[in-house]
Amino acid sequence: MATVAFIGLGNMGSGMAANLLRAGHALKVYDLNEGAIAALQEQGATPAASVSEAATGVDAVVTMLPAGQHVKSVYMGDKGILDTVSSGTILMDCSTIDVDSAREVIAAATAAGLDMVDAPVSGGVAAAAGGTLTFMVGGTETAFAAAKPYLDAMGANIIHAGDAGAGQAAKICNNMMLAIQMISVSEALVLAEKLGLSAQKLFDISSKASGQCWSLTSYCPVPGPVPTSPANNDYKAGFAAAMMLKDLRLAREAAASSGATTPLGELSEKLYTAYADAGNAGKDFSGIINMLREGEV
Ligand code: NAD
Repeated sequence: MATVAFIGLGNMGSGMAANLLRAGHALKVYDLNEGAIAALQEQGATPAASVSEAATGVDAVVTMLPAGQHVKSVYMGDKGILDTVSSGTILMDCSTIDVDSAREVIAAATAAGLDMVDAPVSGGVAAAAGGTLTFMVGGTETAFAAAKPYLDAMGANIIHAGDAGAGQAAKICNNMMLAIQMISVSEALVLAEKLGLSAQKLFDISSKASGQCWSLTSYCPVPGPVPTSPANNDYKAGFAAAMMLKDLRLAREAAASSGATTPLGELSEKLYTAYADAGNAGKDFSGIINMLREGEV
């Protein structure tokens, strides 16, 4: 078994790190929050006092941080990961960050002779704790092969999306689709209500017709048709509107820098901004149906 540095022990990282421990790896952990380090220490991890202390003498590094600026500073900053690790260490950034930052950090790692992947995840805190995340991985075949055994310990599906940055690209493209589809399903359900057509009937028909999609059949935004969806639990997240908004902003930035036209992605961002600003940032993203029903658009 290997020695792994894990940096970023928040809502997601704490569960992922615990799964690496359960798989038998020795873990060195670091976070700005000392309480998060202590919680992993209780489970058998070795605490570190800095990024460089965590990353010294390890076979692999996993990071799970909020945004691109944090990832850049932890890898490329003074006494950062790239300054510290020895050759042969595989680097995995599992944070959701902008494609350009992901490519910049991987280019710097490559220039330092190190293999690195961007490996953002789909699945929330429960999937992180349960080891059932889906990883979308960008990087060379060699880097992917080196990363896969570690990702296997934290996830159920590990997919090689392409070269550096392709994991982040897959993540934001998928979530832009999801946002647009959730709004489309919500609008149709609200229109059906106004027309006197029950949500269950529209669900029964559209789940067998051309409107079928995951937002309808697995995550239906009204209570009833899909008993496990957050609509049945007062829209408790699930996948918080604030997280969806972060991904839509990343999609807009990526569209601007690559010259892609994404009008519905941009409109979705505006609608999710209004929903989050109305006090719903922590609510599940499917609760946007309530804003649409009330006509507050
Ligand atoms: P979080 O805010 O709970 O955790 C981030 C952790 O990073 C915190 O503990 C923070 O103290 C630590 N940190 C920040 N800067 C640091 C630094 N310089 N050095 C060391 N530690 C530092 O966030 P999260 O919910 O765990 O999400 C992490 C990433 O995963 C984000 O990019 C998010 O978009 C993505 N993601 C989250 C979810 C989810 O449901 N929460 C789902 C999929 C993807």
